[in-house]
Amino acid sequence: MKQTTTPANTAKIGNFSPNILGNKRINIAIDGHAGCGKSTTAKQLARRLGYVYIDTGAMYRIVTWVFLRDGIPFDQENPQMLESLKAMEIDFVHNMEKGLCDIRLNGVVMDQEIRTPEISANVSPVSIHKAVREAMVEKQQQIAANKGVVMDGRDIGTVVLPHAELKVFMTADVAVRAKRRLAEMEKKGLAVSYEEVLFNLKERDRIDSTRAESPLKQADDAIVLDTTHLHIDDQVEKVLEWAKEKMSN
Ligand code: C5P
Repeated sequence: MKQTTTPANTAKIGNFSPNILGNKRINIAIDGHAGCGKSTTAKQLARRLGYVYIDTGAMYRIVTWVFLRDGIPFDQENPQMLESLKAMEIDFVHNMEKGLCDIRLNGVVMDQEIRTPEISANVSPVSIHKAVREAMVEKQQQIAANKGVVMDGRDIGTVVLPHAELKVFMTADVAVRAKRRLAEMEKKGLAVSYEEVLFNLKERDRIDSTRAESPLKQADDAIVLDTTHLHIDDQVEKVLEWAKEKMSN
């Protein structure tokens, strides 16, 4: 199928759909624990605002996919890792049909191959490395330079976009997160157990929160959103309300 794409990290960023509110363009940083609905919320928010959604977790997942494919060790920083990072061209291109960006590795769209249990089990140990983080953060900051971006991850409000106009820190009870993630994976036909999903979420939160390089942490000026008892539509409405306030300031 032929797809019309527009590079998302060029001057055209955010211009492909209208900013429906006609207000000041802002950047929105959404951080939080694994599996609490950050990307679902961020995607819907970006659509509603005519903003670009940037899934930074997908970037770290691609790095992990490449290291595993090429047998590059990641127990500690090493020359192979640095070479591999240099050769990786990760970009985002607008997909007209989805109304969202596709993420590409050296021109090839990456999707379900970076969402497997194997990638989920290895992505946090890969993401602790300074060299990996520096390469990803540089790209993320370039993309957000023109504003009109909703970016989700772990260090967006603290490190990547410390001046983002709106920062949200999402969390939810881990058992609820595991049930939601399991349902998503079952829908995709992935055979995993509740215990495996729960273990992976807890383990990623532990590694992500305790690493030395830009750990997962709530920014001082972030608004906390606990989604344990919230429906996705209500999550989006709340963040949209906060965004509108910031856009009109
Ligand atoms: O967002 P997602 O759960 O797909 O992220 C996968 C992993 O990528 C996280 O558990 C974390 O280890 C890493 N990550 C990160 N910094 C970000 C986004 C993701 O370290 N900004």
